[in-house]
Amino acid sequence: MKRFLAAFIALVTLAWGWNLLAPAAGVSAVAPVNAWAVREHALTLTGLWSFSLMSLAMVLATRPAWLERPFGGMDRIYRVHKWAGILAISFAALHWLVEMSDDVIKALVGREGRLPKDHGGSVLEAMRDVAEELGEFAIYALLAMLVLTLWKRFPFKIWRYLHKIMPVLYLTLAFHAAFLAPLDYWGQPVGALLALLIAGGSVASVQALAGWIGQRRRVEGVVESVREPGAGLTEVTCRLNEGWRGHRAGQFAFVTFDKFEGAHPFTIASADRGDGRVRFEIKALGDYTKGLARRLQPGQPVRIEGPYGCFNLPSGPHRRDQVWIAGGIGVTPFLAWLESLQATPDKAPDVDFYYSVRQRESDPFVARLEALCATLPSVRLHILCSERKERLSAETLRERGRHGKRAEIWFCGPQGLADTLRAGLRSIGMGGMRFHQEAFEMR
Ligand SMILES: Cc1cc2nc3c(=O)[nH]c(=O)nc-3n(C[C@H](O)[C@H](O)[C@H](O)COP(=O)(O)OP(=O)(O)OC[C@H]3O[C@@H](n4cnc5c(N)ncnc54)[C@H](O)[C@@H]3O)c2cc1C
Repeated sequence: MKRFLAAFIALVTLAWGWNLLAPAAGVSAVAPVNAWAVREHALTLTGLWSFSLMSLAMVLATRPAWLERPFGGMDRIYRVHKWAGILAISFAALHWLVEMSDDVIKALVGREGRLPKDHGGSVLEAMRDVAEELGEFAIYALLAMLVLTLWKRFPFKIWRYLHKIMPVLYLTLAFHAAFLAPLDYWGQPVGALLALLIAGGSVASVQALAGWIGQRRRVEGVVESVREPGAGLTEVTCRLNEGWRGHRAGQFAFVTFDKFEGAHPFTIASADRGDGRVRFEIKALGDYTKGLARRLQPGQPVRIEGPYGCFNLPSGPHRRDQVWIAGGIGVTPFLAWLESLQATPDKAPDVDFYYSVRQRESDPFVARLEALCATLPSVRLHILCSERKERLSAETLRERGRHGKRAEIWFCGPQGLADTLRAGLRSIGMGGMRFHQEAFEMR
């Protein structure tokens, strides 16, 4: 993710730099370097960084399934979306500070050396004034949104509704960028890039405002059964209408049981049998999921959007030995993997599968995992109970596993555990293991 965002920012900077070093015909050559020129360039560069990242965030918000493969899954697309948005707002704040610096520069060096403004007629001037006003308003709204996004205690449900204002803010910023970009940009690569970003981001905003995101992947169905296999756990099986094209084990879907509540992402914890049935195991992790089993009724309608995700069972002749790690409800993709292997046990990879639970006896999945693994001799299940102080660590992987140093890890569980494991593996010289992770957090 970091490399992708760095490359994206570098590309934008390159286009901006090109314009600086090779000004369009008819535009005066490179301006002398003084405080006013530095301010002007800083203004355009921070504006470009902010707007291009905002456009990227907007396009990624449309859940582009065709980008799942290069990005490694929709959860990763969401992570890039989130960080592109955070960076965009940070650069917008910088842009605003640079804009406000004119009084300071005036006080320090006077008006001398101030770059001449683009002149494009009275209509353009009027539009530019409006664009400036709107841009300032949008920056304040964006900063407020950033604070709420980073303040994790702010209720997700309210944040989600407030977040719906983003396409409107984006269109405001597109207007600001289109009218305030220097006129000579439009004959340069930077202008072509800006036009592409405005077009992509605006189409994405309209899609979001019209409710078209994910429309082609939406299928209606009914809740077939609801169970409560353990405290705070809801197991729901849904039967979907024709139009559901099936899923690969490990994928997830956005599930809407209640129109007013909206969609929540859940992993499809069952293998695809081609009969339109999908099962979800839902842990009470917040307001909506608490007591869900009591609110759902067999026969009630459900809407599913998906499937999404690339946390797929690794297969093929060149696959490496594997280590699967599940923490708590992160077991759901592995349930689907194990179910899908039941029909072809000989295709199961060589795996050490670690499942971390608080208490073995009361855990609703241990017995099911044992039954599923019993038919798969190459899958070695290790249950670790935190109550008995059995903690999963890099050393545990080295001591208990029969896999080699170059095995690959498939992880779904708490972020803290993933960070500890990654650091631990590096410290004991096992950092070469590839680490695939499914993120259960999108905000
Ligand atoms: C790819 C993926 C797969 C998941 N699979 C499972 C699963 O198989 N079983 C399971 O129990 N949980 C799963 N989750 C987590 C589940 O989506 C949240 O626990 C649930 O949405 C919490 O809703 P809440 O209103 O009860 O909690 P809240 O307290 O409102 O939210 C808790 C956290 O859940 C996330 N969340 C809440 N609502 C949404 C939403 N509409 N869209 C995106 N994220 C949201 C946010 O990160 C939020 O901070 C998955 C999450 C993701 C991203």
